[in-house]
Amino acid sequence: MKLVKDTDQLEKKKHEISDEKAEEAIRTIIQWIGEDPKREGLLSTPKRVVNAFKEYFKGYAQDPKEFLAKTFTEVEGYDDMVIEKNISIQSHCEHHIAPITGVAHVAYLPSDKVVGLSKLARVVEVFSKRLQTQERLTMQIAKTIMDVLQPRGVAVTIDAAHQCMTNRGVKKETTTTVTNYFLGAFKNDLSFQNRYLRYINKD
Ligand SMILES: [Zn+2]
Repeated sequence: MKLVKDTDQLEKKKHEISDEKAEEAIRTIIQWIGEDPKREGLLSTPKRVVNAFKEYFKGYAQDPKEFLAKTFTEVEGYDDMVIEKNISIQSHCEHHIAPITGVAHVAYLPSDKVVGLSKLARVVEVFSKRLQTQERLTMQIAKTIMDVLQPRGVAVTIDAAHQCMTNRGVKKETTTTVTNYFLGAFKNDLSFQNRYLRYINKD
């Protein structure tokens, strides 16, 4: 079963639109808010915004599975959980294109192989650099690691602030949202789940 959606389709669509056309759209928005896009300070803004967007959404052009392809089997029998805590997240919500900032915690229970530690953070990064909901982001990270690495279990927690909630709308400045997703042993065995939760809540 394919757990993660193909990005090829999105890639193709993006390349039908030129940078110039995207810059034109930003100019329209600048005008729409009541500003003059020909004002000196705003002349290069559309180009800068488009370049920033390329960075915010670079995840569409990346395949997170590639980062998990290289594994190590020489782990001298290590079979307990590997937890990577406080991986910083900068994403954007798909409803307002507003920033989502926070941290992710990722854990897995190796079966016979492990990955380089930075690779878990890479998977988080690729899915973050797309338009997201926090729920989907949490699941995509967990399912991809489960799918590719086939460990005995995966746990992912995200604790993040959504600027569409803190800066506008209900304006709850201090609110963060916590999502959890458990697979395999973390879902079926509460002792693993509890140990994981205890570790990530420790400073
Ligand atoms: Zn939003």
